[in-house]
Amino acid sequence: MTFKTDIEIARAAHKKPILEIGEALGIPAADLLPYGHDKAKVSQSFINGLADRPDGKLILVTAITPTPAGEGKTTTTVGLGDGLNRIGKKTVICIREASLGPNFGMKGGAAGGGHAQVVPMEEMNLHFTGDFHAITSAHNLLSAMIDNHIYWGNGLEIDERRVMWRRVMDMNDRALRDVVTSLGGVSNGFPRQTGFDITVASEVMAILCLARDLADLQRRLGNIVIAYTRDRTPITCRDIKADGAMTVLLKDAMQPNLVQTLENNPAFVHGGPFANIAHGCNSAIATRTALKLGDYVVTEAGFGADLGAEKFFDIKCRKAGLTPAAAVLVATVRAMKMNGGVARADLGVESVEAVEKGCANLGRHLENVKSFGVPVVVAINHFHSDTEAELQAIKDFVATQGAEAIVCTHWADGSAGMEDLAHKVVAMAETGVANFAPLYPDDMSLMDKIETIAKRIYRADGVIADTSVRNQLKTWEAAGYGHLPVCMAKTQYSFTTDPNVRGAPTGHSIPVREVRLSAGAGFIVAICGEIMTMPGLPRKPAAETIGINADGFVEGLF
Ligand code: ADP
Ligand code: MG
Repeated sequence: MTFKTDIEIARAAHKKPILEIGEALGIPAADLLPYGHDKAKVSQSFINGLADRPDGKLILVTAITPTPAGEGKTTTTVGLGDGLNRIGKKTVICIREASLGPNFGMKGGAAGGGHAQVVPMEEMNLHFTGDFHAITSAHNLLSAMIDNHIYWGNGLEIDERRVMWRRVMDMNDRALRDVVTSLGGVSNGFPRQTGFDITVASEVMAILCLARDLADLQRRLGNIVIAYTRDRTPITCRDIKADGAMTVLLKDAMQPNLVQTLENNPAFVHGGPFANIAHGCNSAIATRTALKLGDYVVTEAGFGADLGAEKFFDIKCRKAGLTPAAAVLVATVRAMKMNGGVARADLGVESVEAVEKGCANLGRHLENVKSFGVPVVVAINHFHSDTEAELQAIKDFVATQGAEAIVCTHWADGSAGMEDLAHKVVAMAETGVANFAPLYPDDMSLMDKIETIAKRIYRADGVIADTSVRNQLKTWEAAGYGHLPVCMAKTQYSFTTDPNVRGAPTGHSIPVREVRLSAGAGFIVAICGEIMTMPGLPRKPAAETIGINADGFVEGLF
């Protein structure tokens, strides 16, 4: 059986003019700032005028522990949005923007797949409306102003060895991870060791995604700790006086981007923070705007529920004042089999036993999501190779956990394959059983917050941390940062810190190697294991096969 590729399906879409999509949502043409015919930003003044409207219901799409077999969270988010619209609920989808780096590295787009996609997918996966370029520029303006401050006499007495603020660009380029700047003589400044991160790992990205409005954006940018003096006094972006100019560079990027699905339903695609050293979900401003415009909003959190959903609840919902009404946990037969020990090459062979074994992973995520007081349903994202017996095994298991699993064929059938799940989501959301609460209170100590996540979500016995890490946390508490939530940076492939341990392991402990302060974004990052903030390209990057064909179309991008 052959299937059309994602890009072939996307190219054949019957898109409506974006002004029509906006009109259906009640956005006047004057408040849509078009970027071409199929993308538009929504004006800040229109958003400001929405404050008194009631909120729609927020549905989170999350997933089991990811495997290379792929789960299809974005595909399911888009499919559910179309499915809810199909059954008559005015629904808006909210997802992240794509980073250029991974697009030219390993294949895997950010616009969904099959017949559940957001379009224009090519542009979404390339420059889109320029938000990431604006973030890159704002970040690097601050970098330039720091070195310039040092060059002109260093009035703030920055310790050049303790400049935390690096540079960014939106590309996978391992050659730039560690560099020495200002070589070449006196007029080029003071040489110092620094490096580049990918733009999505910038704290500016996390800030843009959590800020309420431009004033809050500037306040948060000002709070960024960029360096320390010799006596370890923090120096902020405000001290460097970069916050105003950075806000100017970001003012357009702060406005959410409106696009449409293959079925002409509205989708906001806005912001894209890393899911490890940041919280990994689209902007709060997009989600809040969507809630004012739709009866339902479907949004996605990156990675598995242990990381993505936990941060969505504990960081984004806490900070943006959001209360999710229901959650959808995406599982696939293939991923259950991998969690049950089957090798990737053998996924095509039926194995009910492996599915049953892998379900332990699903069960734990189910329990975890429920522990936030959010009702949850399992969406089985149907793949062509799934057998009836394997699908039944997942349904049976989920029933024993007091929940329901629903097979969804949106990838192949679009919204027609999503009706059952859409009805179930409405039933859950409208009974109002959700009683959302974050996992820990603001006033818990930072170390206790880390331990709470490790024990309650990862089911570890405890946390291992050096005295230096514990002392650092205490220093921050004394400096007034103790109320911040914690952003865990851990492998997404396991509940443990070992990416090879699948399933539902117990008896492990979580080593915290390092902690970082993101004072502007407003969280403490706890780094557990290797974390890459500048990815590299694979041996055979996707870029080698991307090009323009004879008809002028992009080829090779998914
Ligand atoms: P995630 O958001 O979990 O990373 P995506 O939704 O982006 O995953 O999907 C990743 C890839 O998997 C896409 O190229 C998509 O077309 C493909 N995919 C998703 N669901 C299915 C399915 N049911 N059958 C075949 N391919 C699928
Ligand atoms: Mg995704």
